[in-house]
Amino acid sequence: MNKSAVIIIDMLNDFVTGDLKCERAKHIIPNLKRLVEAARKHGVLVIYSNDAHYPNDFEVVQRWGKHAIKGTKGAEVIPELKPTEKDFTVEKRTYSGFYETGLDPLLRSLYNGEGAKTVILGGLHTHICVRHTAADAFFRGYNIIIANDGVESFTQEDHEQGLKYLEYVYNAKIMTVDEIIKEMSKKA
Ligand code: ZN
Repeated sequence: MNKSAVIIIDMLNDFVTGDLKCERAKHIIPNLKRLVEAARKHGVLVIYSNDAHYPNDFEVVQRWGKHAIKGTKGAEVIPELKPTEKDFTVEKRTYSGFYETGLDPLLRSLYNGEGAKTVILGGLHTHICVRHTAADAFFRGYNIIIANDGVESFTQEDHEQGLKYLEYVYNAKIMTVDEIIKEMSKKA
């Protein structure tokens, strides 16, 4: 787990309780809370990759309707997972956390410029933003770990197919949050 970063994707009010709410998101909250707390404790950096849309963004207008509009309550991280001042937040305007954002330079600047080598992804949704962020991580040569009890989708089918795809196409290592925490504590 050396030189890794935890990336928490779209755990925002609108995705959990607001405009695009997902009932199934609730059960991953305590798992992600344990994950970010363990990461901070073991010196693994935590990055929040958050939708921060303009109302006229293509994705908003063409596909999902209003959600996570920059500057609104809906675009804030849910209170249970509130970032600390040690964490980073990188705003995005579509599915991938890398697409036209500062995420890649941030990851490369971590650990005294040696850069993070592995990204540990959690959040929403397994088959949409997690998948697209994993794609861009894979294209850039990062190892990918997915917390299977730390990601969710609107349906079980989307979640399971999403995990299969992530493993098959991006060579993502699928682990439980507890397994990830165990690894973090080993090498810290
Ligand atoms: Zn969005």
